Amino acid sequence: MAPKRDYYEILGVPRNATEEEIKKAYRKLALKYHPDRNPGNKEAEERFKEAAEAYEVLRDPEKRRAYDLGGHEGVAGTGFTGFSGYEDIFRSFSDLFNEFFNFGSSGKHSEFYEPGADIRYDLAITFEEAAKGTETEIEVNRMIICPECQGTGLSEKSKRITCPTCRGTGQVVSSGGFFRIATVCPQCNGEGVIIVDPCKRCKGEGRIRAKERVKIKIPAGVDTGSRLRLRGEGDAGLKGAPAGDLYIVIHVEQHEIFQRRGDDVYLKIPITIAQAALGDQVEVPTLYGTKTIEIPPGTQNGNIFKLKGLGFPNLRGFSQGDQLIEVEVQIPTNLTPRQKELLEEFDQIEREKQKGAKGFFHRIFSKHKYQKQKHRSKQQ
Ligand SMILES: [Zn+2]
Ligand SMILES: [Zn+2]
Repeated sequence: MAPKRDYYEILGVPRNATEEEIKKAYRKLALKYHPDRNPGNKEAEERFKEAAEAYEVLRDPEKRRAYDLGGHEGVAGTGFTGFSGYEDIFRSFSDLFNEFFNFGSSGKHSEFYEPGADIRYDLAITFEEAAKGTETEIEVNRMIICPECQGTGLSEKSKRITCPTCRGTGQVVSSGGFFRIATVCPQCNGEGVIIVDPCKRCKGEGRIRAKERVKIKIPAGVDTGSRLRLRGEGDAGLKGAPAGDLYIVIHVEQHEIFQRRGDDVYLKIPITIAQAALGDQVEVPTLYGTKTIEIPPGTQNGNIFKLKGLGFPNLRGFSQGDQLIEVEVQIPTNLTPRQKELLEEFDQIEREKQKGAKGFFHRIFSKHKYQKQKHRSKQQ
């Protein structure tokens, strides 16, 4: 048997190393020479045992002092005999290995790193709310961090122990002829630890489902299909992983009289023949209160008037939409005898006015005749 090496040399730390430095150095070696990473490697096994022994002595102030004063014999005087094998080491260091494999930065932790899911929430708002923006509260059904255990999944009685099936590696290796197949440990789901007596409220998951009220702010200018993203308001992540996002999908309700066309508000209003012919001032509703528009004399059916800036604000900040007002000239029905008389008189005057001038149909026919003649003269 080779003589025992110096414990400080094994861990690669100076004689005045702090407890923290010693632990860090051991962690590195324990991961490097771990039997699951070096299956069947006798050399790694020796290094792994050696490092465990060195750490076991140097982490204990009393044993460390005995070693500093009397070397290996000095430690033997404290009753320390070293480790008989792997099982012995894993049993002695189970808490430490939990720490190494689950909270260290060895990269193992990332296998169990599961961010929370995103949540979609469909929200109906009114036409006015879409135009002006609003603040509201919604109730979201989501996973939250368990308030009983603060997400640890542990109760006062519970203990994290190294998973006995996989000895903390999270994997089980089975041999099939020439192959060694590693699969996720079925007992701990690859976590390497199991919890006995977990938190009763969340059954050890660290999360529970809950309905919570969330305040949201809807910006002015949104439309049906607009999506708002609220970072971190989705499901809580597992074991300290970040939460998902909450997506609010907007549905704008139809308005009784207004329609939306892009960022413009469109409104159709009826006017009488007299208003169209003589002109008038008409009051119209807008999203921002009642406004007056000027209908000039001789307005035709379908003419569109614009109230600048009274539409929707642009969501991307480009200007503001307008309100468009289309007039619909109403042809009167159910005339009284007096109204008929007046209209007939109106018609009489209109006919006399047209006598001298060439009428609408006359112009069409004469144009048609002219083209025919032109066509014929070409043929000749
Ligand atoms: Zn396991
Ligand atoms: Zn809990």
